[in-house]
Amino acid sequence: MKLAVIGTGYVGLVSGVCFAHKGNEVICVDLEQYKIDMLNRAESPIYEPGIEDLISLNLEAGRLEFTSDLADAVRRSDIVILAVGTPSLANGEANLSYIEQAAADVGKAMNGYKIIMTKSTVPVGTNEKIKGVLAQHTNLSFDIVSAPEFLREGSAINDTLHPDRVIIGLDNEGLRETMVTLHQVFTDKIYVTDIRSAEMIKYASNAFLATKISFINEIANICEKVGADVTCVADGMGMDKRIGSSFLQAGIGYGGSCFPKDTNALIQIAGNVDYEFKLLKSVVEVNTDQRFMIVSKLRESLGQLHGVPIGIWGLAFKPNTDDIREAPALEIVETLIQAGAIVKLYDPIAMNKFKERVDHPNIVWCSSPQQAAEGSDAVCLLTDWEEFKKVDLVQLASLLHKPVLIDGRNIFTEDQIQSSGLEYYSVGRPRMS
Ligand code: NAD
Repeated sequence: MKLAVIGTGYVGLVSGVCFAHKGNEVICVDLEQYKIDMLNRAESPIYEPGIEDLISLNLEAGRLEFTSDLADAVRRSDIVILAVGTPSLANGEANLSYIEQAAADVGKAMNGYKIIMTKSTVPVGTNEKIKGVLAQHTNLSFDIVSAPEFLREGSAINDTLHPDRVIIGLDNEGLRETMVTLHQVFTDKIYVTDIRSAEMIKYASNAFLATKISFINEIANICEKVGADVTCVADGMGMDKRIGSSFLQAGIGYGGSCFPKDTNALIQIAGNVDYEFKLLKSVVEVNTDQRFMIVSKLRESLGQLHGVPIGIWGLAFKPNTDDIREAPALEIVETLIQAGAIVKLYDPIAMNKFKERVDHPNIVWCSSPQQAAEGSDAVCLLTDWEEFKKVDLVQLASLLHKPVLIDGRNIFTEDQIQSSGLEYYSVGRPRMS
């Protein structure tokens, strides 16, 4: 099939490349010319393992193009996929200006019947609005499909090529066959429903996963007070098939471009129809508090933080991505700077993106975990990158001025800590040294 994908961010680029890889002719479009220039050199503007190889392969095969000419891409396609950002407004609602602009541009460019497929995460009712925007700019016929995306950054290619399921929302049964044909190259678990339910499935799924995370984090906080170990508790809970073991890792909470914005948006979606989503409000509140647990543990161990050098390991909101949107590191670093600490930052991939967002004389940018630790009074681990799991903890203790390790992701075991000489704090587990 001939596809145009509008937006070459984490979702648009990965989906576009994977659709091309499965034999479709795909034109990826972005407003940002520098992204298009990079992509045409088979360089990815985002960090996503394996993406550059797939881009090269499909460029060479002639199935994939990158352009900033949206109109041309729309005219040469049968299906137009909207994958632009829907970030949060100040009140938590989703900002629909990018998707409305993209829909208007698509409408103006149309030269015949098109299927417009929304992959961006949009509040219930948005696809109807998109329909209205398109209709303002074209008299030609079109259909709208909601196809919310569930990929995870860091494993986005595998998630796209082998999804747990594909959700399709449509209001014209005649589209079912085309949608199934387009997606069955990835999976035969294709759930077709109405558009509003498809929009809601995306928010409800993210809200549920966020709830699991905040739930185990609260259990972790209680474990610390009653002397239980949350990793054992989560293991035991996860053995029950009704519960499942995923998303039960206690830590400093979720971040990223999806869970924080989608939970807040769902609270707003409910609020707009006079429903107070009390449970989800608490999930968000617990998550916000959880980040500051790192700072409390630092104070518990070191006392006041003014002038104190502290190593920070991990800035990305999770491993295997350079995405720092809503990363816990942003707020933690800012709080430490406000307390007067000297923060020595290291991340294997996300340093440049963090530098674009945060700048302060109290920041020392480091080129290795060891450099961030050397002479510091503590190291705080905020992202569970594989690189940190391999660090020699005895050497770490010797590099630190005070041998304090605060592990916000529970990546080290008691055995590893016991022989290290470190004073070790983690989340929901007994203090170890
Ligand atoms: P992103 O910010 O990484 O990418 C959006 C891209 O769209 C940018 O490159 C931007 O330049 C481009 N763009 C904006 N307006 C445009 C226009 N009119 N024409 C052409 N290009 C335009 O966003 P993302 O992380 O890929 O997320 C996209 C959507 O998918 C969001 O709604 C998000 O909630 C959802 N989503 C994201 C993820 C994820 O892990 N990132 C997962 C599932 C769903």
